[in-house]
Amino acid sequence: MNTISVIGGDLRQTTVARLLRDDGFDVSLYGFDSGVNTYCIKKAGDISSAAQSDILIMPLPLSCDNETVNAPFSGNKIYISDILENVRKDTILLGGRINDYLKGEFSAYSLNWRDYLLREEMAIQNAVPTSEGAINIAITETPETIAESSCMVLGYGRIGKVLCRMLSSLGASVTAAARSCSDLAWIRNEGFTPIHTNDIASAIGSCDIIFNTIPSVILDRRILSVVSKDALIIDLSSKPGGVDFDTARELNLRVIWALSLPGKIAPVTAGKIIKNTVMNILNEMGV
Ligand code: NAP
Repeated sequence: MNTISVIGGDLRQTTVARLLRDDGFDVSLYGFDSGVNTYCIKKAGDISSAAQSDILIMPLPLSCDNETVNAPFSGNKIYISDILENVRKDTILLGGRINDYLKGEFSAYSLNWRDYLLREEMAIQNAVPTSEGAINIAITETPETIAESSCMVLGYGRIGKVLCRMLSSLGASVTAAARSCSDLAWIRNEGFTPIHTNDIASAIGSCDIIFNTIPSVILDRRILSVVSKDALIIDLSSKPGGVDFDTARELNLRVIWALSLPGKIAPVTAGKIIKNTVMNILNEMGV
């Protein structure tokens, strides 16, 4: 039976550990102080023994400083170097958002690693908690119901598709912006109002809530200057974001840059998604 150490992270990681334990794996947790619900999963005594498992499941993001594991529920720092010095040559390490520096470190130790955040099925499943989180913000931050609101969704990718459907089911009037003919045709098929990304200036002024999913600065000065002062912009795109934030501030526009929503609003669901993705990776590796 494979031994698995789940090291660092938050509620998502304890969920991953619980589900793997329930599947029959020999799971240990490391990086959770008392007071956190760890579902009675056994704890590794120290990082050197945790690092000796067949499989290491690291958090998302794996690290925020390239030196320590992201471990908000641990009173002690968990040094990545302590893990690397103790791993076995055949250990598999799975983590989220592994940057170039860490990739170099892992390669230097000839570690067999994978970044589960890069998996398509993970991004698709995360579109649901991300969209729910965005709607949650819209509900609490606007004085009108979603049903009465005119919404524009910029981008019709994984999140855009799910978000448009959810907003529409709440009764919102939904305009979706895309740049490909096929996406524009799908938007029309789904009963939303399509608009080419190049033309959004002509319609954005009448929108109450603008959701951006395009990972590029689409809401620049030209577009922001026609956005209503009463509108709320919710930017979901990852850094550097899709809004010229300085200009938005100068124009007194309300912008909320809402990142990492799955882990914030639905950590257990987000943990299930990570566990499913990790299992797919391991199955493909023949583990
Ligand atoms: P996606 O499936 O790749 O969709 C992105 C959309 O943006 C597509 O419609 C794409 O159009 C469009 N697009 C990209 N570059 C563009 C450009 N320069 N001009 C016009 N349109 C452009 O991505 P996703 O999974 O929906 O994720 C969207 C963003 O949210 C990403 O930055 C992702 O990292 C982030 N994210 C945020 C959260 C959160 O909690 N806030 C959670 C998960 C992901 P084409 O198909 O024509 O390229």
